[in-house]
Amino acid sequence: MTLTLRWLVLGLTAVTASTQAAQCFDRSEQSHRFVVDSHLHFQPFSGPSLPHEELIGYLERAGIQYANVYGIGQTRIQDWGCFYGGRCDVNTIMPTMKNDFINAKNMADHPSRNVGLTLSMTFPDLQHPETIVNRMDILDAEFPGFFQWMGEANVVKQALFTWGHEPATLEDIDAWAPFMARLRERNMPLALHSDFGNDQDPLKYLPLMQAVLERYPDNIIVWMHLGMSREQRDMEPRQHTRILSEMMATHPNLWVDISWSVLYDYYFSEPTRRPFYVDFLNQHSQRVLTGTDIVASENTGYSQYERALETNSYINQFLDDDAFRNIALGQNYFELMGLEETAPVICTD
Ligand SMILES: [Zn+2]
Repeated sequence: MTLTLRWLVLGLTAVTASTQAAQCFDRSEQSHRFVVDSHLHFQPFSGPSLPHEELIGYLERAGIQYANVYGIGQTRIQDWGCFYGGRCDVNTIMPTMKNDFINAKNMADHPSRNVGLTLSMTFPDLQHPETIVNRMDILDAEFPGFFQWMGEANVVKQALFTWGHEPATLEDIDAWAPFMARLRERNMPLALHSDFGNDQDPLKYLPLMQAVLERYPDNIIVWMHLGMSREQRDMEPRQHTRILSEMMATHPNLWVDISWSVLYDYYFSEPTRRPFYVDFLNQHSQRVLTGTDIVASENTGYSQYERALETNSYINQFLDDDAFRNIALGQNYFELMGLEETAPVICTD
């Protein structure tokens, strides 16, 4: 009897210990890939898109738990207008509402069971802000309750200069006030692509982002790609992270996004540059979001998605445990979106 009881107690203790072990996240055994793709374009620049359900299938297969559904902030205009007698100017791109309608309709028609989706309004033309509130109303009337995010919208994106894009001016930014008020009422984050500068003039466009943050301190703003781009491969990491740190400290509603292979290619994969970013991410880990920045088109295969996931997750392995949980395991995103989900705790031995 005594022996049986003792055996039972020992057995229970073992079960409790193993349950705890299973619940915690073992970094030495498990993947450092992130589980939230908060930067994913479901619609391409031009041409046919990948079927919605196929892309959701990629996410499931890759172990993604949540994703943001973006259109694309720059659409080649000949794709839509000129088929119906409009302009066929191949050298012009502009944001449109088309992608947002398509994404919302896809979400309505194909509810996702295994991947939580956050639908984003990608249409805003930040250089013509007077159009934004009305268009928000149209999308909300068509798809009530569907949209919970705005962006990725372009403040300044040098890669698009040859396509007719111009930086937002300070006057434009002032004129954002009505839609920024709407976003605050609804607690909707705004994701902005805003180039820091370029290799000839590293801080050239920084004043634009600073103006946005000073003018709208109560809006949640996610700054994409830490401000980097293919035009800026040689930002000095010490200066870059110092400026970012100061901005994060001054603006408590500023978040950053570490998606896009540009960051891996020129900064995170470089052993001499990486430590500055690891320190920065550890220090500000509660306001950092992950993503692939894949722009899915009909030609995007699973392997391409997986490669982007791998590249964009690379930096995670160097983070401390707190930062890893906040960033890679999705805790930040769950809190930002008010989800009940919590990330597992990291195992300590
Ligand atoms: Zn993007």
